[in-house]
Amino acid sequence: MNWKKIGWLISMGLMCLALVAVVSARIEAATNYPDNINPFAEKEEIVVLATPTPAPIQGEWPDIDITLPQYAMVSSAKLLTSSYVPDVSKIEGTYMMFDTAALPHLEDMIHDLKENGFGVYVGGAYRSYSYQKQRFDGKCYSIALEMGIEGKEIWLLPEYQKAVAEAKKYTMEPGASEHQLGLAVDLYDKQYVAQNYDHMNQRFYEYLDSICANYGFIKRYPTRKLLLTGWDEPWHYRYVGVEAATFIMENKLCYEEFYAHYNPDFDY
Ligand SMILES: [Zn+2]
Repeated sequence: MNWKKIGWLISMGLMCLALVAVVSARIEAATNYPDNINPFAEKEEIVVLATPTPAPIQGEWPDIDITLPQYAMVSSAKLLTSSYVPDVSKIEGTYMMFDTAALPHLEDMIHDLKENGFGVYVGGAYRSYSYQKQRFDGKCYSIALEMGIEGKEIWLLPEYQKAVAEAKKYTMEPGASEHQLGLAVDLYDKQYVAQNYDHMNQRFYEYLDSICANYGFIKRYPTRKLLLTGWDEPWHYRYVGVEAATFIMENKLCYEEFYAHYNPDFDY
């Protein structure tokens, strides 16, 4: 064997190693998709805090038309139908889609983060009803298998409903996710390593929370409001426009509290 052949073999070997490294990193990134996890999964103890609306409110309640789509309330009690499809466009530098009219504000906010030294990873944005259904059904099915529910068409069995109820703690049911509105985005520091919020870069979220309202966004599911929103997702930001966002963030409200002011019959 001559030196040329040996050199060729070594370089092929190195290329294979590099390929294996890239593929395994991709697989890890795919399985680490943080949207599918229970934010409490790694916590030993769950501390539930509900911060009631502070009084007195700073400033005037904005004079807005709450019926506009940007103010839509979406939850498991207020489901979107499968026919709700917003006008969305691609977020610069990603394969994700966002509401076309609000997109420039999201991109400006991402630029602001980058200019201030943060790497930004868009973990989720617009999701169609059918995609959310696929995610939810998949979660129900895997939980049912973990529970040991067996049979040919297990989703027809009455005990399958236990798996459905459990799945709702991890993944929003179809129609209940704000991501279907096209106005919600999950943002992470690019360097994040753990799926647990406590392990994420808190400087990233402190900065984002301090500027998001300038771009019309609110932190939609802060942990401290868990009892009011029913959901803990501190990386999820929602576009509502600058006026509402500024008022909500300054007064440390959750969106349910804000929405209820304009819709007194709204129960949450
Ligand atoms: Zn989200």
